[in-house]
Amino acid sequence: MSANYQFKCITCGKFFPANNAPEYVCPVCSEKQEAGKSLLGVLECLYDYEEYKLSHIKKNAGTEIIFPPVVFPPLKVGNTPLYSSEILRKKIDIKNLWLKDETVEPTGSYKDRASYLVVAMACKKGYDKITCASTGNAASSLAGICASAGIESYIFVSASAPRAKLVQLAAYGANLFPINGNYDTCFELSLQATEKFGWYNRNTAYNPWTIEGKKTAAWEIACQLNFDLPDQVFVPTGDGVIISGIYKGFFDLLQLGWIEKIPQLVAVQPEGSDAIVKALAEDEKEISKIFRDSADSVADSLVVNAPRNAEMALRSLKMSDGYGLIVSDDEIIKAIAEVSSSTGIFVEPAASTAWAGIKKARETGKISAEQTAAILLTGTGLKDIASAEKATQLPSPVEPNLEAVASCLA
Ligand SMILES: [Zn+2]
Repeated sequence: MSANYQFKCITCGKFFPANNAPEYVCPVCSEKQEAGKSLLGVLECLYDYEEYKLSHIKKNAGTEIIFPPVVFPPLKVGNTPLYSSEILRKKIDIKNLWLKDETVEPTGSYKDRASYLVVAMACKKGYDKITCASTGNAASSLAGICASAGIESYIFVSASAPRAKLVQLAAYGANLFPINGNYDTCFELSLQATEKFGWYNRNTAYNPWTIEGKKTAAWEIACQLNFDLPDQVFVPTGDGVIISGIYKGFFDLLQLGWIEKIPQLVAVQPEGSDAIVKALAEDEKEISKIFRDSADSVADSLVVNAPRNAEMALRSLKMSDGYGLIVSDDEIIKAIAEVSSSTGIFVEPAASTAWAGIKKARETGKISAEQTAAILLTGTGLKDIASAEKATQLPSPVEPNLEAVASCLA
């Protein structure tokens, strides 16, 4: 699967050969970086596609994904199911609807795809300690995959993250810093700690391998559908890294000549954390003008004041002729019950955001009855029971006799 590569700075366009590449972001652009703003100088990994094609064939793309040479940790990441959901499809009347089920990843979220490659890279580079800032899922993912590889993790996460995510981190043996602050605060603090303590940093987008790791679902979707791609792919969006990764996956396949077109990507954001969708709608060049001071939503995984990968996410949306949608917290909560009861896949709020998004797209005519779509169900509902409870109603306790059961049925 390995191939020669170089990095390209998406802000200034400068190329860096693999043997002389910066560890994280473009050193020229990062000089202008202000704390708490979208990242400047995010690096994109570009391969020697012509060379790769000489020794690889399209039909093996599902298992032989193009990567730099690395040895992956022992956990099994990716190759998740792609379900065709007849029940959900009928609810919105489109030609076909597929669900990419990321709830079955080893730590329960899509973030494993990034952590898998980052930990492999850390091992290759000789690091034995990795840090990251996270809203919760990236942290538990990093901690779990580090545990499998015998590496120490140092995690900065908001103390207000859902309790299950914090407990999961502790169980994995992470060195946990529950910070009295939001994700943006954790991000800055982890950068300082990286410099001070010499750890490897997995911060999303800051470490270019996070984007590269997140591309794999696009390769899988393409192969699972025998390269007959959906018209639109709905992506729950916070920092903008998953949507950038999905774009990169399809971009690779396009460069290899294995697909003819990249599907329209759709960024779905909660109304309390909607910077990327707003910047796209308003064609705002200076993205930081759109940032919030106090982003908030029930979809905790998507809550960011300053989406760190906004520049690449916006480029991905434009290059795929995609669009953005904003959904309310009520719509997200309602979508948890709809997805879970219609599919058997128990989803967290961020994941149900994708279903809330496609419903809105159908209502507003952005997707037609003749079109097909895939939605990413990015994380399991077991991580955030409190939100799922809002979408359901637990019955009162029942006396242990048949009369009581019968009276419940009446
Ligand atoms: Zn640059």
